[in-house]
Amino acid sequence: MLYIIFLTGICNLKCEYCGGTIPEEVMPFEIKYNIDQLKEFMKGDSNAVVAFYGGEPLLRINIMKEMMDTLNAKHFVVQTNGLFLSSIPEKYLSRLDAILVSIDGRSEVTDFYRGRGVYKTIVNEIEKVRDVYKGDLIARMVVTEKSDIYREVMHLLSLPFDHIHWQLNVVWAPENSWKDFNGWVRNMYNPGISKLVKLWTESLKKGRILGIVPFLGVLKRMIWPEDGVPCGAGRNAVAITTDGRVLACPIGGEFKWNELGTLENSIYTDYINRVDVSPLCKKCDVYRECGGRCLFANKERLWGEEGFNSVCATVKHLVYEIRKAKKVVDEVIESGLFELEDFRYPPFNNTTEIIP
Ligand code: SF4
Ligand code: SF4
Repeated sequence: MLYIIFLTGICNLKCEYCGGTIPEEVMPFEIKYNIDQLKEFMKGDSNAVVAFYGGEPLLRINIMKEMMDTLNAKHFVVQTNGLFLSSIPEKYLSRLDAILVSIDGRSEVTDFYRGRGVYKTIVNEIEKVRDVYKGDLIARMVVTEKSDIYREVMHLLSLPFDHIHWQLNVVWAPENSWKDFNGWVRNMYNPGISKLVKLWTESLKKGRILGIVPFLGVLKRMIWPEDGVPCGAGRNAVAITTDGRVLACPIGGEFKWNELGTLENSIYTDYINRVDVSPLCKKCDVYRECGGRCLFANKERLWGEEGFNSVCATVKHLVYEIRKAKKVVDEVIESGLFELEDFRYPPFNNTTEIIP
């Protein structure tokens, strides 16, 4: 099971699409439960993945260290804005299996949404840790109307990241934060995806698998089918708030459908397969790969049916492109250039949600 642990609701940035610190009444700033309680909750889970989350989790680095010393997890992950990366002591850095750093691509896009100078600080921090950190360093973009997906991904591939992932800033973002979502998808995003898939397959033929997470994750579900949303929300992932509530999805701690219980009187097995996506998704022709995309969006159709379907158009385009690319994958395996196992990414639920 994946345990997404809020270490605090405080964030030192105030990014445009997120707003920074979570209100204290939704997410208390400090952890209110005892770590042993969490340990007890996870007891018996031999496949536990613990992901530190916030706010900005590295603002509570001492609690992170304490949890890493106390909890029996197979993998540790952190999702961070990257500004304090180099403050993680080497001993703990080397035990993290994945670090997801929020960065939106080129400096002008990143700084526009995250604040002036943020891009440069992130890049400096990455350079400081890259020699010591041998785990999976993942760039995690929020993709907005300012993003040119092809250019942002190409740019991030030129930095010392192992993988690039992104989420579209849709559904939880107010619809008026986009001037013309459908036009952007038609003219910018979908063509950019096609161009990236082409580049990805060409690179494959030359013996290199580019670490583009949505491509790899969709492909993985084609090869090794799985049911439900790829992020695992409501299925085999939970988020633990600072006051010990157990949520299906880390976004929207204030929504009642999302609040499943508390640490106090339950154990992890109580939360397996608790919330499912809409039956309409199960009839969709890309359900096998998409799995319903996002539980939150499925439950809170904040953009209405039409808006939901507009986002699905991006998913379908991506899946159709990867279905075509799968032929090249089969060829490179057949020719002996790669083995099937080379395409098993992510190797565990490292909090990359796969479907943007
Ligand atoms: S593309 Fe849309 S309708 Fe189809 S499975 Fe995904 S979320 Fe559901
Ligand atoms: S993809 Fe959706 S349901 Fe899954 S963790 Fe993200 S917001 Fe929550």
